[in-house]
Amino acid sequence: RMASPALLMRVVASAYSVAEKAATIVRNVMATGDLGIVEKTGANDLQTKADRLVQMSICASLARKFPKVTIIGEEELSTDEVSEELIEDGHCEEILKKACPAQYSGIKEEELVIWVDPLDGTKEYTEGLLDHVTVLIGIAYGGKAIAGVINQPYYNYEAGANAALGRTIWGVLGIGAFGFQLTEAPAGKHIVVTTRSHSSALVNDCISALNPDSVIRVGGAGNKIIQLIEGKASAYVFASPGCKKWDTCAPEAILHAVGGKITDMHGNSFQYNKEVKHMNSAGVLATLRNYDYYASRIPNTVKQSLVP
Ligand code: AMP
Ligand code: MG
Ligand code: MG
Repeated sequence: RMASPALLMRVVASAYSVAEKAATIVRNVMATGDLGIVEKTGANDLQTKADRLVQMSICASLARKFPKVTIIGEEELSTDEVSEELIEDGHCEEILKKACPAQYSGIKEEELVIWVDPLDGTKEYTEGLLDHVTVLIGIAYGGKAIAGVINQPYYNYEAGANAALGRTIWGVLGIGAFGFQLTEAPAGKHIVVTTRSHSSALVNDCISALNPDSVIRVGGAGNKIIQLIEGKASAYVFASPGCKKWDTCAPEAILHAVGGKITDMHGNSFQYNKEVKHMNSAGVLATLRNYDYYASRIPNTVKQSLVP
């Protein structure tokens, strides 16, 4: 008899299907034309009906299967009963077929923390920049991001009616990352990707100091990590405190699974234990290659402005 798959692989396999259900909800809410926009801290910090429904769907679906796992979602929601039609109980068979890395094979439910960003790039979603949007499910153990799922509900949306809409990228440290083609950024070029809707003088000063060949301004932390692993950009640079643990956990696991690196502006790695503060207050610096080139050029004045 086959031994049952390790908990970590079952969680990732379920998160894959839960993220695909989430993508359907994201597209359905947009199709109704009624986004139900609520301002959280201000006009650049929004929540839509999709953020709310997707968080309920992801958290309730995973909690039902893995009741002892800690699940932390971005949105503060009333704890109403979640409608059955939001529950996803499927899983991805292909993920279950992969062997769990030995160091993770004994993990228990109580030891996992799942960080959920139901809709990353909400500002862009409300503005119709649909391929900036991702659904992020990050899985942490021992304070480290070890696995993640990124769903891009509108991948291919400008590629014509025959192109399959949406994709799911997943990864586990020690296994790798799948669902995309790993691509190197153009050699010898410094292409920085950064925020589109949360700029500041510090964000721009930091980028200027790096003297990049070009700057790509797009929404979403998930989207920006995709730019790195698909070779569109060579560094994600965000010298600002706005990013949270649910923005970085899944992207970090996927980036690290393919040999990249993500830290704050001081070079500190992020912690994802359940007690940690949510804000990545010292900013974000991420690369697939040549991390040291960028890290060594972050001005001290920028570092001094960002307290971890
Ligand atoms: P961005 O690159 O601007 O899309 O930001 C990446 C993630 O961090 C998104 O989830 C944003 O909502 C969040 N974020 C960044 N800066 C801020 C801010 N000043 N206020 C609220 N959320 C922010
Ligand atoms: Mg986000
Ligand atoms: Mg969000």
